[in-house]
Amino acid sequence: MSDADIYMPKGLTVGQDVRLVVTCMDWRLDRFIDRDLNDGNTIILRDAGGSAGTMENTIKQLSIAYNVTAIVMAGHTDCGAMGLVFKAVREGAVTSPDVEHALVRPFRGQIFETRAELESLNPELQAGRIREYADKIGAHATPMLIDVATLDLPKHDGEKRLIITKPTLTHNSRLQQRDTGEGAEHAHYYFIQANSVSDVLPDIRVAVEAVGVKKILLVAEDREQERQFTNAAIRIKKEPWIGDVPVVLAKARAKVTG
Ligand SMILES: [Zn+2]
Repeated sequence: MSDADIYMPKGLTVGQDVRLVVTCMDWRLDRFIDRDLNDGNTIILRDAGGSAGTMENTIKQLSIAYNVTAIVMAGHTDCGAMGLVFKAVREGAVTSPDVEHALVRPFRGQIFETRAELESLNPELQAGRIREYADKIGAHATPMLIDVATLDLPKHDGEKRLIITKPTLTHNSRLQQRDTGEGAEHAHYYFIQANSVSDVLPDIRVAVEAVGVKKILLVAEDREQERQFTNAAIRIKKEPWIGDVPVVLAKARAKVTG
């Protein structure tokens, strides 16, 4: 199996009705996603800003395996990725070509005056980008704006880290337990969840360059993912923007038998 082959999250059967939620990697959404969105029939996909572009392959692959009934494009207020878009489009800041293509370009030519207007526009625009495909497979594409001011956030302050996983039903709180390194109890975890790491390299770049994550953890849930993530880690480490950020593989846990 290659990195881009269809991956099927555990706990679902082929052809089953599922909802997809595409949202931002921001750590402040972690608890909200676990409590309000992850209902056992929802596959959570995350990237920088909740952008449709980098998730297109993953959405298409999942819709081959499952009966996708809804695709929710969930943006949020005070989004760092939208801050980057705002600076690039409204203030002429220069972004790298890969980040421009993945994140910024869909907003060029769009009308917005303020960062708040951009953040409201984002989920609408992303739902619009996926709507034609959603219609084709009989799914509803709907926008959602999460107001981070209303979220229950951990009070501690720690370094920002990034967890990369395949699309999964596993809660964020469990995935972050896979970080057994020092400082894990105080860290804030950004999440990138996609079928193929090569699709989300620009998003990982944003996490490193704009967010300033101090560690990247690839969390494998089975042996096949472990193999793919071993290769993905090598790929990420070759990127010139990675600097000295450690890229660590959390191997699949041994199956409990008996
Ligand atoms: Zn965000």
